[in-house]
Amino acid sequence: MNSSFVPFHKPSIGDEEIAEVTNTLRSGWLTTGPRTAQFEAEFAKYVHAPYSLAVNSGTAALHLALAGLHIGPGDEVITTPLTFCATVNTILQVGATPVLADVLQNGNIDPTSIRSRLTARTRALIPVHLAGLPCDMSAIWDIAKQANLKVIEDAAHAISAEYLGLPIGASDSRLGYHSDAVAFSFYATKNLTTGEGGMVTTHDACLADKMKVLCLHGISADAWERYSEKGKWYYEVVDCGFKYNLSDVQSAIGIHQLRRQEQLRQMRARVASLYKAGLSSVEELTVPDEEPQTRHAWHLFIIQLRLERLTVDRDTIIQELRSRGVGTSVHFIPIPLHPAYSRYPQLGKETCPRAMELYRRIISLPIYPDMKDEEVHRVVDLLKDILQKSSRPLAAAVELAN
Ligand SMILES: *Cc1c(COP(=O)(O)O)cnc(C)c1O
Repeated sequence: MNSSFVPFHKPSIGDEEIAEVTNTLRSGWLTTGPRTAQFEAEFAKYVHAPYSLAVNSGTAALHLALAGLHIGPGDEVITTPLTFCATVNTILQVGATPVLADVLQNGNIDPTSIRSRLTARTRALIPVHLAGLPCDMSAIWDIAKQANLKVIEDAAHAISAEYLGLPIGASDSRLGYHSDAVAFSFYATKNLTTGEGGMVTTHDACLADKMKVLCLHGISADAWERYSEKGKWYYEVVDCGFKYNLSDVQSAIGIHQLRRQEQLRQMRARVASLYKAGLSSVEELTVPDEEPQTRHAWHLFIIQLRLERLTVDRDTIIQELRSRGVGTSVHFIPIPLHPAYSRYPQLGKETCPRAMELYRRIISLPIYPDMKDEEVHRVVDLLKDILQKSSRPLAAAVELAN
């Protein structure tokens, strides 16, 4: 590794974040308190959601949404194979059965495939906005309305993404419908980071209350406020909850990451457009498209190799990039390939042939706000050089296809 190595990701932490953390430490209030309340309020406003709850991970946000909606044993929840394990783990952790639908060419869940998975037991859908590209929510909401299903969006990649001109997370009458809950992640590599953290938003006051109680051991929220703010010692545990609250030290970071989010998105979008300009005409790959009526968050820039035009596989190209100074990743190893899920037939490879095929061809290139133009050009040139050397002539590719 040389000094000019381009890493897969670098967080963008500004002086405001650092100053706010210092102030928080000096304030003496370290756990969930005024800064978390402020972060929640500003976040709710940014995504146009009436209720938001800060939690200590995106996984916690998904788990609270499922538990808060009383999804459990006997219920089936349909999600995508191209996701992080947390999406499926939380479904299993509430005792429900995860079911995979296949994906579209853009990597997002295919509404037609969702329909083919519906049974009398289906209770909920968890679409994932892969890379920050919004799913076809109108089609997903139509299914949910017809089959009376809950919708929880896994928006771990999607802060700053928009659908029909409104932020992911919005509940606005202009959308015609909205999801029951939307889960965001503030993990170190995500668009908005607090190191570890997350947020769950909803339009449903009851669900918001329920999640708030479950988030802190199941202690009744009113009692907790009296306890923490007014010095009263008595509280009651009204539900068997979890320990998922976000600390004020983390919220201090989040407040400023949120205020800078539009600017950070623009910087990521610039990297994406430089990649597109440099790579669109390369025959051995395809670059990600934006969909009409959406705004991409550009959390990830996932290229798809055209393996029929290459003499080597994806892993060889990743290796070559790494040895020549570029870090990449793969999003995601499809759920069926993890040993933990091998005993669930609804999570088998045969349920999602398109995801399995896509998996062989995808590479996530470095993309982050502080990435310099010169670094993007270096990745483009290197990739072009590697692909050119492993290129299979068109005639041979055609022959291979026949
Ligand atoms: C990161 C991620 C999560 C989990 O978020 P954490 O904050 O790490 O718990 C869930 N789903 C997807 C798609 C993710 O990328």
